Amino acid sequence: MVKISPVRTTCPYCGTGCGLLVTPDGQGGIASLRGDPDHPANHGLLCGKGMALAETLSMDGRLKQPLIHGRQSSWEEALQQVADGFLSTVQKYGAEAVAFYVSGQLLTEDYYLANKLLKGFLGSANIDSNSRLCMASAVVGHKRAFGADFVPCSYRDLEEADLTVIVGSNTAWCHPVLLRRIRMARQKGAHKRLVVIDPRRTATAEEADLHLPLRAGSDLSLWLGLLHDLQRHQALNQEYLQQHVAVDPEAFALAAAHAGTLAQVAEQCGLSEESIAAFYALFRATPRTVTLFSQGINQSEQGSDQVSAIINVHLATGRLGQPGMGPFSLTGQPNAMGGREVGALATHLTAHLEIERSEDRRLLAEYWQTTRLPKAPGRKAVDLFQDLADGVIKAIWIMGTNPLVSLPNPELAQKGLQRCPLVVISDPVAHTDSSRFAHIQLPAQTWGEKEGTVSNSERCISRQRAFLPPYGDARADWQIIQEVAQRMGFADSFCYTGPAEIFREYAQLTALENHGQRLLDLTALADLAEEEYAQMSPCTWPANESLHPHHSLPRWPLPEGRARLWAVAPRPRSPQADGKYPFLLNTGRVRDHWHTLTRTGVSPRLSKHSSAPFVEIHPQDASQLAIHSGQLLRVANQQGSMLAKARISEGQRRGHLFLPMHWSHSFASQGKCNHLLSSWHDPVSGQPGFKFAYAEVTPVTEYWQGMLLTRQPLQWHNGPFYWSRQALEGSLWMYGLIGLEPLASWSEQSRHWLQPLCKEQESSWIDFVDSGRQHYGCALLQEGALLATLHIGETLPDPQRCSALFAERELSAQQRLALFSGGSAVLVAESRTICACSGVTEEQIRKAVASDPSLSVAQIGATLKAGSFCGSCQGEIKQILAQSQGRRCA
Ligand code: SF4
Repeated sequence: MVKISPVRTTCPYCGTGCGLLVTPDGQGGIASLRGDPDHPANHGLLCGKGMALAETLSMDGRLKQPLIHGRQSSWEEALQQVADGFLSTVQKYGAEAVAFYVSGQLLTEDYYLANKLLKGFLGSANIDSNSRLCMASAVVGHKRAFGADFVPCSYRDLEEADLTVIVGSNTAWCHPVLLRRIRMARQKGAHKRLVVIDPRRTATAEEADLHLPLRAGSDLSLWLGLLHDLQRHQALNQEYLQQHVAVDPEAFALAAAHAGTLAQVAEQCGLSEESIAAFYALFRATPRTVTLFSQGINQSEQGSDQVSAIINVHLATGRLGQPGMGPFSLTGQPNAMGGREVGALATHLTAHLEIERSEDRRLLAEYWQTTRLPKAPGRKAVDLFQDLADGVIKAIWIMGTNPLVSLPNPELAQKGLQRCPLVVISDPVAHTDSSRFAHIQLPAQTWGEKEGTVSNSERCISRQRAFLPPYGDARADWQIIQEVAQRMGFADSFCYTGPAEIFREYAQLTALENHGQRLLDLTALADLAEEEYAQMSPCTWPANESLHPHHSLPRWPLPEGRARLWAVAPRPRSPQADGKYPFLLNTGRVRDHWHTLTRTGVSPRLSKHSSAPFVEIHPQDASQLAIHSGQLLRVANQQGSMLAKARISEGQRRGHLFLPMHWSHSFASQGKCNHLLSSWHDPVSGQPGFKFAYAEVTPVTEYWQGMLLTRQPLQWHNGPFYWSRQALEGSLWMYGLIGLEPLASWSEQSRHWLQPLCKEQESSWIDFVDSGRQHYGCALLQEGALLATLHIGETLPDPQRCSALFAERELSAQQRLALFSGGSAVLVAESRTICACSGVTEEQIRKAVASDPSLSVAQIGATLKAGSFCGSCQGEIKQILAQSQGRRCA
């Protein structure tokens, strides 16, 4: 037997960028997968999502070959049409009429070529990444303070810090391995403190020594208050300020004017004076402090200023550039940082060259041998889709992203795609909310099939390596871009033999005429041979002869090498409060899902923690509105509405709601939270305010409930019933159904719904009606085997029992009867899986603590194995123990 060696690669999910050792099984799957002990990001650790990657390689739903207006085409025809379409649009309407919308899922080499083609050869700066939606405000904050988009920290700082302040990040769920590193460091150093600033009592907050559940949108007041407090207590580091910082004289005055007294800050933030004073005192007293921030800070209309306010307190106290110190921005996507490096943002050129600096344009134009570089920034994501809707942009190429789910105001984005004469989408997935509007679809390779590099939150460049053959005719993104460029007549500039050659060109550019002016310097990687690129180990930039130890800082590319303390003040917010919509709405991620569910949504294990869209609401708010757990609710505001099931949680602030961001029209009807979000965005960074909207919530009348199990997903859209689907073991899909109208004829309607599943060969139906129990059931069979089964009624059968019958090649008479009898369970009362690694449910944990009320998180780990692997669920276990034991968490 041939022994297959493990392949070193990088996780395709969050910006932690964990290294993996993957052993393929030789049949298109994974035989084993574990964390890479030698990778500096994770040292062998993985979270539940990373560990379940083998379950997400399903080829169902993949795009197999190019499509033109929905018909299968050859690559040649599709590539030629893309090239002709873009060229003719530029000739007719000018370069501003074309755009690329790219993704943090692309590899750095893909990004580099996309940017080179659009900016360098088509002459348009309209290339923006969906990373604009998660970290553009951090980029602005870095450039203001340091003169470059430079993250001045590493993960080791998280372990070396005596105080970690996590703000606007549910790290336990969104970057679980990082929280685990913090947790492990705290277990070794009892003095280490953790402060979490978040309106919600998240799993991260459960682990904190101090949780500040501030009012949504009040972060700037809190951080201006801290700067003012530091000044009042003479806790500024005057020596550091004099030597290393250029201070805008307005900065302290504005902080004093807007923060005011502690009582005023408390009032603005909706917190007690005591809790704010405790945080400020802890910050003053702890030199080794890291402030870790993410989407909760960035995704705001004042995101750039919030980032600056955080960096300001670190500059004012000299808390950066030494072990365990610094303002640390976490990136959301696996290669958001790579896009920033190679200029896949409308506001930058590649390799940290500036679009508005003529010397930088000259350097790049000479290097790329082009005369077409644009002189001004292009349209940022939200504005770009506005231009599509206004008919200004007439050709767009969307690569590896689903903007109709991820952008705010998806109606506007849809209008844009409908109006645009040429929409090209290259993606591994065939059917997405956005692909419905594509004229040309190009099948792209996905994780495990493609080769290149990614950069994580701490500027560490790692290889993603292929270990699977490409699916169908799928090609690498860089290859697709190159072939289009060649057909446009740019073959001399797009003739790479592979990603290694692209990487070399990019690395050489970072070194070109650099002289220490650009911190992004990859001189040490500029001449990598093919084999060296193949073997490349993770490497943090700057990568040049003066390689920096992890915590030392370079000389800033600003006058006299000084960082800048940037004056900021709160601005009036929009949208404004409106009595009609009394709740403040927050949106974000859940623990076991990723983006729009195209990958994690196919994993039964990952779907058990959160199986359908939900809206989290405080118990007292729920009680006032007579809302009970699991009830279907309509969340609405002037922008739009969506449906979600009630999840009542004491972790929610009163008057606040939380909605997950993941569900698209492919996984739930009316489950997209972005319908409630307007296009309002930060005027500097262009980042939308995903964390702040007003909304109302009302119960929906539920006329009936049902459950559908099927081998194949249905292409359902909105109708007279609500549905959401979830992957089950055995390659099945379970749909939860709730009637929004009475059902006239159960049998007729059910057959109508299931008809698309009927194969050409003869299918047979079984119907079952129990008028006494008000229960209807039907099953669709083919040659005696189950294709689908549907139940409608007050109580529904146990899905596990029903799904087991799908394994039968031919149902016996007894099994047919068993489909519709006995073992009923109410679907909405299904117990959530808390520990995805060990498959332990909330009910099991509650039972354990009921029999022994003194159980601790560690003892639950020892007895049930819950929380003892990746540890992502420890915060939730703590919460369940506290509730069951009738006490608040510490
Ligand atoms: Fe992947 Fe992020 Fe989990 Fe690491 S922490 S395994 S990068 S999802």
